[in-house]
Amino acid sequence: MLSYRHSFHAGNHADVLKHIVQMLIIENLQQKDKGFYYLDTHAGVGKYRLLSEESEKTAEYLAGIARLWQQKDLPEEIQRYVNLIKKLNYGGKELRYYAGSPFIASLMLREQDRALFIELHPADYPLLRNTFKDYQNISTKRDDGFQQLKATLPPKERRGLVLIDPPYELKEDYDLVVRAIVEGYKRFATGIYAIWYPVVLRQQTKRIIKCLEATGIRKILQIELAVRPDSDQRGMTASGMIVINPPWQLESQMKQILPYLVKTLVPENTGSWKVSWITPE
Ligand code: SAM
Repeated sequence: MLSYRHSFHAGNHADVLKHIVQMLIIENLQQKDKGFYYLDTHAGVGKYRLLSEESEKTAEYLAGIARLWQQKDLPEEIQRYVNLIKKLNYGGKELRYYAGSPFIASLMLREQDRALFIELHPADYPLLRNTFKDYQNISTKRDDGFQQLKATLPPKERRGLVLIDPPYELKEDYDLVVRAIVEGYKRFATGIYAIWYPVVLRQQTKRIIKCLEATGIRKILQIELAVRPDSDQRGMTASGMIVINPPWQLESQMKQILPYLVKTLVPENTGSWKVSWITPE
């Protein structure tokens, strides 16, 4: 059943968008000294070798992180993200590794912050566990990520970010996301929730948004980057992040950097972006 392997997609345009949003939210949480909790419900393996068989097969990173890697005119926010990926590449010139969301978090966490990374795949989980086994403030668990919102919220820190990044290989994932959010929000209404979604069929995206609207939850921001217009052909044309309780700067930060991202990631000129409220305050 679990056939999705993120290694085929690591560093693509969707990862770039997701990880920039993740970084900006964590930076915001770190404006206060008090620690926070970071829950990654679908963690993957943590970091990826871009010259692996899987990565080379699709080479999606070439139209993602590789297009930012050597740019000299990066906006500050994007530069900070590229710097994180550089750290993983030993500061070197060559792009060999890409950081998944757990590694982005691990590069940023302070002593007082705490993280839990969940992964269900029997082959990916041991890799995840092994990467983070020596970190004091990071735990990993092989489990169903959706259940963790019920099981681990609210966190004792009373501040935090939940990243929900399922593969959507099962249609149910769309409904499971909404149900998990409802459970999480009931327990931890002040938390920040960041949900990644692909645009493969626009109808599916509209449905998840409608279901989230119907929950009555306020302050839901939608951020999207398209590499091509919507289509009924196979393949992902865009991806986005739905952020509940976003830090107030996130909207303007993304409005500022998305034109640059679209221009640089989609030189073919078929791209577009949007930042809009699904439900405002
Ligand atoms: N968040 C990662 C990142 O940004 O680097 C990528 C995650 S990838 C899109 C989705 C992951 O979810 C896959 O590694 C898959 O094995 C895992 N997965 C699938 N169903 C799951 C479930 N119910 N609970 C936890 N993990 C699951």
